[in-house]
Amino acid sequence: MTIDQIADTVRAGERIGASEALELYRGAPTWRLGQLADLVRARKHPGRIVTYIIDRNVNYTNVCVARCNFCAFYRPVASPDGYVLGFDEIFRKIDETIALGGVQLLLQGGHNPDLPLTWYEDLFRAIKQRYPGFKLHALSPPEVIHLSRLARLSVPGVLERLIDAGLDSVPGGGAEILVDRVRRLLHCDGKATSDEWLDVMRHAHRAGLRTTATMMYGTVETDEERLEHLLRLRALQDETGGFTAFIAWSYQPGHTELAGTEATGIDYLRTLAIARIVLDNFDNLQASWVTQGGKVGQLSLAYGANDMGSVMIEENVVRAAGASYCMDEVEIVRNIEDAGFAARRRNMHYEILGDPIFRERQVPRMLELATAREAGDDSVPVELRLYPARSRAGKTTRM
Ligand code: SF4
Repeated sequence: MTIDQIADTVRAGERIGASEALELYRGAPTWRLGQLADLVRARKHPGRIVTYIIDRNVNYTNVCVARCNFCAFYRPVASPDGYVLGFDEIFRKIDETIALGGVQLLLQGGHNPDLPLTWYEDLFRAIKQRYPGFKLHALSPPEVIHLSRLARLSVPGVLERLIDAGLDSVPGGGAEILVDRVRRLLHCDGKATSDEWLDVMRHAHRAGLRTTATMMYGTVETDEERLEHLLRLRALQDETGGFTAFIAWSYQPGHTELAGTEATGIDYLRTLAIARIVLDNFDNLQASWVTQGGKVGQLSLAYGANDMGSVMIEENVVRAAGASYCMDEVEIVRNIEDAGFAARRRNMHYEILGDPIFRERQVPRMLELATAREAGDDSVPVELRLYPARSRAGKTTRM
């Protein structure tokens, strides 16, 4: 098919397959990809509303045994820079989040062998008891798999226990590219193969949770593999309908073992646009201003995105790779409105909560993203003594 014929198929609201998607992705001029993606976005969201959520991205530990070669965030077991946040530290972060109008934590971390499943259950229960109504968007599929190996329980068994303790939804992290050739090269096939990642999401959807899906592109994958990733997500969405949103971001090479260069802004916009066209069964696509900066983030709204993601408050993973962009609610709303859309706050299910909160009440400006911990804070939370450690280093600190 020619580009014109494929464009007509998209305009007619029909699904395109792998070869048409590749033709479009490789051959269509950027303005044309954007035009088609914008058309699909407008069809799904005719009201010219762009949403965002106020939440906090908390990384409860940076200790990880997975050792993905694209990751600048993790520290090996026994590293002097390794940390685990205490329950009290997490409560303080929730207090600050609520003060800014936040409604949930995005809680993710390394695969720390010294945190058993009971630690997560106790944390979730303590949060829910203290902050009823506050939501936990927590533990990406590889973390769930890590816990299932640690606890010797099935994935549905782990999910059931986490849901009982207060898990509300599963973030789509750790997907990278859902092609095992790529995962092997990134040294992340051990934490989850493509099928295993998809299977956690399948089980989460069956258990009644809504989840997101992500893609980290710009490492070693081919264009065909980026599209294979999208098609695998589309197939699971056909099966379960459980994904709320898709988020793509570019690999951040700073301080990583893999190194290399970062994909360009045009590559990002083209990838976002083709995702909007291929993922015809996803309602929401987020703009990744955290990796692309505010200006490309704003442009994303013309390339298929209908959501500005999260105000975020705290960020540790992308910052570890050298990128640090900050937008508080005022700045996010300014970018949305300047692009010709109405800005609305939402929850994790993409239900509208209301107008920008800073127009309803006084909220402090946030001109810098917080970090997990202040530099030099190497305290060990007291409650860790209650949980059996597996590593020698973990056992020593808990004696
Ligand atoms: S990406 Fe996640 S799983 Fe991989 S090394 Fe980093 S923290 Fe660990």
